[in-house]
Amino acid sequence: MTTAYNSISPKKRTYYCIGKTLQTVRICAILNAVMRMRKRLKIKSKKILRLLLIGCFSAVLVLFCVTAVYWQSQKEEISVCLDAGHGAHDVGAVNGERYEKNDNLRLALLVRDALEEKGVKVYMTRSDDTFLSLQERCDYANRRNCTLFVALHRNSAESGKGVEIWVQNTPGKIDWALAENILFQMESAGISENRGVKTGYVHNPDGNYYVNAHTKMPSCLVEAGFVTSDEDNALFDENLDAYAQAIALGIYETLTDMQSGVLPAEE
Ligand SMILES: [Zn+2]
Repeated sequence: MTTAYNSISPKKRTYYCIGKTLQTVRICAILNAVMRMRKRLKIKSKKILRLLLIGCFSAVLVLFCVTAVYWQSQKEEISVCLDAGHGAHDVGAVNGERYEKNDNLRLALLVRDALEEKGVKVYMTRSDDTFLSLQERCDYANRRNCTLFVALHRNSAESGKGVEIWVQNTPGKIDWALAENILFQMESAGISENRGVKTGYVHNPDGNYYVNAHTKMPSCLVEAGFVTSDEDNALFDENLDAYAQAIALGIYETLTDMQSGVLPAEE
C-alpha cells in the first residue's frame, strides 16, 4: 500500500487521504451503530431473562402457597361423616312396612342439618336411597380425612327396646367420649331406655362393626331404638327432631373438646 501511495500524484494523494478518512469514519459509524445495537439487544435480553426468572419464581411461589394452603385446609378441616346405614335393596331391619334404611336416612338428614347450623362441615355417605358397601362407606370417610364418623342405624330383636351405641372393642378416648356424649344427649330427647355404650360387635365382643374397624378416625355406631319395637318406633317418629338435635349436640361437644384439647387430638 505504501508503494502505491508513493507512486500517485500529490493531488491524488489528497483525494486518497480524504477517501480513506471518509471510509474510516463510515466504518467507525457502522461499528458504533452495531455496538449500540448489540448493547441494546443485550440489555433487552437481560430484561427478558430477568422477567422470565421473576415470572418463573412467582409461579413456583404461587403454586407452593396454593398447595400449602390446600394441604393445610385438608389437614385442619373439621368435618363429620354421617353414615345412614343400609340403602336400596339392603333394607336393614323390618317391621311390617317399616324399613330401617328409611329411618336411618331420615335421621341422618336431620342430623346433617343440625350440624351444619352449628357450622360443622358434614359429609354423607348417602343422602338418598342408594346402596354402598361397608368398605365404600369407610373409603368415603377415609378419603376425606373426616374428623369423626357416626353411623346411624336402628336395632332389631325379638324383644328389646332402647338406644345403644357401639364403639370398637379397643376404643380410644375420643370413640368413647363421642358415644357417651351422644347417648347422654339422647337420653333427654325421649327414648325408652338407655342401653349404654357397648364395645365390639353384638354377636362377638372380640369383633367389631365393620365401619368402626375400618374407618381411620374416631367413630361410633348409633342404634337409635328398635325397629322391632312399636314403642321405640312411636318415640322415634315423635321425637325425630329431638333425636337429631341430640346426636348433633353430642358430636359437636366432642369436636369442641377435641379442639380445646380436653380430648387428645391423636390417640
Ligand atoms: Zn342397621
